Amino acid sequence: MDLKQYVTTVENWPKEGISFKDITTIMDNGQAYKYATDQIVAYAKEVGAEIIVGPEARGFIIGCPVAYALEIGFAPVRKPGKLPREVVSADYGLEYGKDTLTMHKDAIKPGQKVLICDDLLATGGTVEATVRLIEELGGEVVGCAFLIELTELNGRAKLGDLSIKTLIQY
Ligand code: AMP
Repeated sequence: MDLKQYVTTVENWPKEGISFKDITTIMDNGQAYKYATDQIVAYAKEVGAEIIVGPEARGFIIGCPVAYALEIGFAPVRKPGKLPREVVSADYGLEYGKDTLTMHKDAIKPGQKVLICDDLLATGGTVEATVRLIEELGGEVVGCAFLIELTELNGRAKLGDLSIKTLIQY
């Protein structure tokens, strides 16, 4: 299946100069959503994932069906103030300023093999901060899966030699 035909590009949104990749037109097509999920499930098996981690909010949309299919757990990565118990935090740089991501301290067991899932790899800042959170908790990141990769932004460079799977490239 050519998944790319189901992505809707919205130019100059949310601001001038951004070419926004809208994945809701993959999700609202049952066959396309299942096909995308199945590809990531196959990759998750290949890398031996024992738990899925996804950053809010679109990482939940990609990661949760993968966890369900494999009958393994899912741990959310959230913005500060959203998780109710003790958290670990990681800062990452934005174009202007910084942002912070958090995970529950007991979300990952030491030595657990983790697959990170998100909708899109752009600069790699989000996933790189997520890797730091998982490693602080003693987890081993065995792979990172994205529906879409914006290759010009070279997010891969931030991930060293981690295994990366992307289904659609621009
Ligand atoms: P980054 O940290 O730069 O790799 O950005 C990753 C996050 O920002 C992804 O989880 C996307 O949800 C969002 N994002 C960045 N650029 C775009 C884009 N052009 N279209 C849609 N979402 C984007």
